[in-house]
Amino acid sequence: MKKFTKVNKDICISCGACEMAAPDIFNYDEDDLAYSMIDDNKGITPVPEEWIDDLIEAYEGCPTEAICVSDQPFENAPVENEEQSGKDLKSKL
Ligand code: SF4
Repeated sequence: MKKFTKVNKDICISCGACEMAAPDIFNYDEDDLAYSMIDDNKGITPVPEEWIDDLIEAYEGCPTEAICVSDQPFENAPVENEEQSGKDLKSKL
């Protein structure tokens, strides 16, 4: 199943864990906040299959649940929407 990801920068604390777990997916912007390099944190491009394990590791390791993961593109699902928070989606992984 396809996975999409983006970082809710409002709650990222720049801990560095996601880049350690998924260096092909996550990097840091000029403010040291994490973002997805896949599509500049838009969350509309599927994560390549070979990176899904890394994505899940990063998702589960994020201390603030800033990493959002969904089976659907985030284009019409703002991160601010509570239903799209990482916590609610955890059971779907
Ligand atoms: S693991 Fe979470 S809090 Fe840490 S840098 Fe990545 S997105 Fe930010």
